[in-house]
Amino acid sequence: MTSEIRVPDIGDFKDVEVIDVLVKSGDEVAPETPLITLETEKASIDVPSPAAGIVQSIELKKGDRVSKGSLILTLEAAAPAQQQSAEPGAGDSAARDAGQRAGESGTALGQQAQREAGQEEQQTGQEAGQTQAAGVSSDAAVPAASAQQGSASAQQASAGAQQSPAGAQQASAGHAGASGTDQGGTRHDFDVVVLGAGPGGYTAAFRAADLGMKVALIERWPALGGVCLNVGCIPSKALLHAAKVIEEVREIEGAGIAFGKPKIDASKLRDWKNGIIARLTGGLAGLAKQRKVQVIRGSGRFVSAHEIEVVEDDVATGAAPAIDSRPAGGARRVSFGQCIIAAGSEAVRLPDLPDDPRIIDSSGALELDLPRRLLVVGGGIIGLEMATVYEALGVKVSVVELTGELIPGCDRDLVRPLQKRLEKRYERILLKTKLAKIEALKRGLRVTFEGESAPQPEIYDKVLIAVGRKPNGRNIGAEAAGVHVDERGYIPADLQMRTNVPHIFAIGDIVGPPMLAHKASHEAKVAAEVAHGEKRAFDARVIPSVAYTDPEIAWVGLTETEAKAKGVAYEKASFPWAASGRALSLGRDEGSTKLLFDPVTRRVIGGGIVGPHAGDLISEVALAIEMGSDAHDLGLTIHPHPTLSETIMFAAEAFEGVLTDLYIPRRDKSRKG
Ligand code: FAD
Repeated sequence: MTSEIRVPDIGDFKDVEVIDVLVKSGDEVAPETPLITLETEKASIDVPSPAAGIVQSIELKKGDRVSKGSLILTLEAAAPAQQQSAEPGAGDSAARDAGQRAGESGTALGQQAQREAGQEEQQTGQEAGQTQAAGVSSDAAVPAASAQQGSASAQQASAGAQQSPAGAQQASAGHAGASGTDQGGTRHDFDVVVLGAGPGGYTAAFRAADLGMKVALIERWPALGGVCLNVGCIPSKALLHAAKVIEEVREIEGAGIAFGKPKIDASKLRDWKNGIIARLTGGLAGLAKQRKVQVIRGSGRFVSAHEIEVVEDDVATGAAPAIDSRPAGGARRVSFGQCIIAAGSEAVRLPDLPDDPRIIDSSGALELDLPRRLLVVGGGIIGLEMATVYEALGVKVSVVELTGELIPGCDRDLVRPLQKRLEKRYERILLKTKLAKIEALKRGLRVTFEGESAPQPEIYDKVLIAVGRKPNGRNIGAEAAGVHVDERGYIPADLQMRTNVPHIFAIGDIVGPPMLAHKASHEAKVAAEVAHGEKRAFDARVIPSVAYTDPEIAWVGLTETEAKAKGVAYEKASFPWAASGRALSLGRDEGSTKLLFDPVTRRVIGGGIVGPHAGDLISEVALAIEMGSDAHDLGLTIHPHPTLSETIMFAAEAFEGVLTDLYIPRRDKSRKG
């Protein structure tokens, strides 16, 4: 039987834009499969399918405007048995509820949230209606994700059992010996030499030294800390903090407090940022000294499987010198029992661009020579973080992104609140558009674009290229040591962080994505401990990602994008920050917290948060996944009130059907089993 699926009651909203059509003709849908996404003033809503079936025809398209009753699609109903097997007892009510719930939404906010929100009833009703439609969905027709089982301690126990591709020979390789001798009994200058002093390298060196090994750390830059401390995580976050202060001051005007327009002294701001870097990198130099790690300054290249030649060359980072040993006469050979490669990555350069100082990468952007108009090429995390800083400092910012979305790969419902905010602030956000050419003119950089809706060429004062990073695997003479480097420049490593050469390890960005400092430092400890002869493996179940934009976006574990691409079964629950007293008191109600659950075990398998402090909040979800926690564990853990962290508890309660801070008529799953 064919039925017409229409837009349910979505509260007080009319004439709402369809921002996504999530299915196509011929698709098989289960009850609660999201069909379209609508965008209201306050949030986006996924409209779920009320029944299982096959989509016959789609009756609307992206950009259309709809109200209650608008026709979405026609659906050929699935056989009754099939409908039930999709998710017995739960799916049948959900989409029906999407209509009902919104109708009931005037009473939707719980007493507590209403009290704190201090909002008009009509508004809270609207928000709650959105939550209900978007709040909980399931996709149970596909097989369960089995990889997400067990607890962190179980991982630890099994870590030692991991096999190294370097082979069984490794079982006894272990510690080269405090004397610096290798397996063949040859003496070396050091037990362990670490190449590169980023978060991977310095962590590995310090851990190896703490384990009693004689360690050298080779670094070509004047200061320790690598990209992260010198030209990455730390300086960008310092400037993002400055941007946040400016934004908050701007926004509090709505509450009757005005400070006036900020006066920006870019040179003082730069000094402040450099001071933070110097303090941290200086601290690292002190830690190296305390541990008797010998720091050798210069560029290292392998000359054999047990030797690196270090040549001094200056690559300025703007940070304070902190290196205590320089290669005599410009070059020096250092021999090692074992080596840990931590040489990191560098910004990708686009070919055929003019050699012009107005074309910069992220390191150049951190120097804060403020232009009037800036074009950011690349709508990923680094590009958008820099854009956030420059816009707050008064620069007219445009972003051009090749794909159809900002922060490609991140769930769109998480990106949407950010995109909405940026669209109001930036001159232009050009999606599905390619940078075709830059001409260096005296009056500026003339940029030509390509793509369906590419604008006419524009003149910018500066162009920031933020199109990704590439590993430094090809720059270290790895072939002389017999270390395999793949065609992209990565050095593959196994779970013990060994390369194909058993006594040479690799960690951090050079090993592969995600290129994140916290991944590098965790891998570093594994490498150092394995080098010392311990049974360890890098077996993290999840690695969180954060965009420190405004609002921040953070996610960990399974994403909906990935689940859909791989056909992984999941159920979802979301909590909109519009119902969080804390979020409202910060003046930021656009955020949301969502959790993904294994439909069988009800364990948390993923989560995403958008909103201020999302980057800090996501660790709880990471811990939940590592510990094998289920919705019950999160819901029953008492969270302090009023906090943003409560939104994680509320999302878990929404999944369980026991949330009282919003009205979501749903079966109480907490009583199952
Ligand atoms: P790196 O930090 O790249 O360090 C490698 C070191 O090796 C460098 O000091 C380099 O000089 C040295 N080296 C290379 N070759 C040689 C050689 N032949 N001889 C001697 N020395 C050599 N990550 C996050 O987790 N959070 C963030 O917020 C974040 N923000 C970022 C912002 C920006 C603007 C950028 C560019 C990156 C950001 N990152 C962030 C990524 C993060 O900086 C990297 O993932 C991290 O630094 C990788 O650490 P690593 O130890 O592998 O290598």
